[in-house]
Amino acid sequence: MKIILLGPPGAGKGTQAVNLAQGLKLAHISTGDILRQNVSGGTDLGRQAKSYMDSGGLVPDDLVTRMLQRRISEPDAQKGFILDGYPRNINQAKALDEMLEKKNTGIDLVVYLDTSEAVIIQRLSGRLVCKACGAIFHRKNMPPKIEMLCDKCGGTLYQRTDDKEETIKTRLAVYKKEVSALIQYYKAGAKLHCLSADEEADMVLSKIVQLTEEYNDSPKV
Ligand code: AMP
Repeated sequence: MKIILLGPPGAGKGTQAVNLAQGLKLAHISTGDILRQNVSGGTDLGRQAKSYMDSGGLVPDDLVTRMLQRRISEPDAQKGFILDGYPRNINQAKALDEMLEKKNTGIDLVVYLDTSEAVIIQRLSGRLVCKACGAIFHRKNMPPKIEMLCDKCGGTLYQRTDDKEETIKTRLAVYKKEVSALIQYYKAGAKLHCLSADEEADMVLSKIVQLTEEYNDSPKV
């Protein structure tokens, strides 16, 4: 199964994608995570992407799309995947469809995580990420058992540099500019399912799981 999670920064795409990927045994592909790994590893791609990421803008489509193409060709992605952070605009959505068509496959479900602005700001300003394994916590909603240490691997937690107020504003503006076209694109293909992501993570997860079950039970043409 191939699933796209769409939604603003702070919708909980990362948290949902990790749990969903575990439950459905699919690969979790986060373009933001791959880019951050490249930045911290000092690769060419990381050097090219860093300034866009620091300002809250989008990394150019050709760089991200090539990176995604490589990632979805890896063995663990052949059984299916959950995309978190891609596509971010129509160009990327079309590029994704083209790459999957060449593999005689396509996206099965697009889940739009509708989130209010108050919840977005609250989630992003308290978000903590593990430097070692990328696990996501929140100062208030999902605090680690030991302050600033990851429950899963003991790594150090940090606040993403783009989770600062000014950059959050830019990221939201970039998101708003692109999202309605993306929603129209997936609505036209009848793949889009919208749900409110303002609720607790567990509630949102069970709604997504229900959608995947309905999809699996539905007749395929
Ligand atoms: P995220 O972790 O999804 O919030 O992404 C963090 C940052 O990485 C974004 O603000 C962008 O600068 C960059 N990024 C992630 N995914 C994409 C994408 N599909 N297209 C362009 N830039 C991206």
